[in-house]
Amino acid sequence: MKVLSTIVERTGIATVFRRAIAGRSGLILALHRVLPAEEQSLCYNPHLVLSESAFVSLLQLLQRDYQVVPLEDVLSDPGGAEGHPKVAITFDDGWEDNYRVAFPHLLRFGMPATIFACTGLVDTLQTLPEERFARLWSQCSAHFNLEELVIDLNHWGMGRSKNLQLRPRQQYWSLELKRMPLSARLLLLDHLEQRYQITMPQLRRFLTWEQVRIMTRTGLIRIGSHTHRHSTLSSESDRDIRQELDDARISLWKHAGAVSDVLAYPNGMYNRRVQELVRSMGFNAALSTIPGFFTRESNPLAIPRIAVDNTTVTDTGTQLSTSRASFYFLSSGLRSAASF
Ligand SMILES: [Zn+2]
Repeated sequence: MKVLSTIVERTGIATVFRRAIAGRSGLILALHRVLPAEEQSLCYNPHLVLSESAFVSLLQLLQRDYQVVPLEDVLSDPGGAEGHPKVAITFDDGWEDNYRVAFPHLLRFGMPATIFACTGLVDTLQTLPEERFARLWSQCSAHFNLEELVIDLNHWGMGRSKNLQLRPRQQYWSLELKRMPLSARLLLLDHLEQRYQITMPQLRRFLTWEQVRIMTRTGLIRIGSHTHRHSTLSSESDRDIRQELDDARISLWKHAGAVSDVLAYPNGMYNRRVQELVRSMGFNAALSTIPGFFTRESNPLAIPRIAVDNTTVTDTGTQLSTSRASFYFLSSGLRSAASF
């Protein structure tokens, strides 16, 4: 903790946070999956996973030092009681473990959370394009086909960067893929999976509507839109953006009786055109993945969140410790610094 305080002081982060807390900020946490230790390696992206034990430690810490409230509460009034900042918990994508693993703990602690689901994935055996690409890359890598794969990707008009260093990196191509309109992305993946004979395991990765209804009936869990099919809105036409948002809205109402005017941008990607469309469709708030506090001055259509996963927070067994600047606020060291 002493080391952390030193880092906090030296980097000037404490001053920023003190100011932030003094300005009556709220915090919105962004999680994806919560998995028991033995299941974590099955997830294609470690940035999506928080271990179950770290999740429990997180809830203990929040119970002790924070006021955990529904998201709408932070959005309407981010200021918390003296020394107890308001925190809202959010989950993106609608993973099945939100119900199986995270929900029982949230119930036990009596803590509210909002799940931003892709309504087109609920109750299906579908896979996110990002996971399909990760599998494609690892299979090609294992069979020394990566060069061929990169040539194929180039043929599809991907890979605009002239930096050859980037070409062997999965992360680079994955981002390129996210920037494609969804229909083109799905077509490309279909083609490449066929060419390299990749088959995806048929698993239920996402929630069912029945699970959604069970959770929302408790009044503790709310459900919001993460679009219908996880499309990167900034890469879609106006018509397709409207369609994605409309389809998600209708599904939420039809299957869960839910109405929400809050959106979480898939892949955290948006631009001014997307914001204007989102606003014109009646959304009052949209959550980004930009790290930071939420204040009354925050842009309501680019609301910052704090990413929580195994790379930003670790559970040492007795206490949650932090490993990235965006998460320092959760340490008790910072809390005492922040309460000056
Ligand atoms: Zn997402």
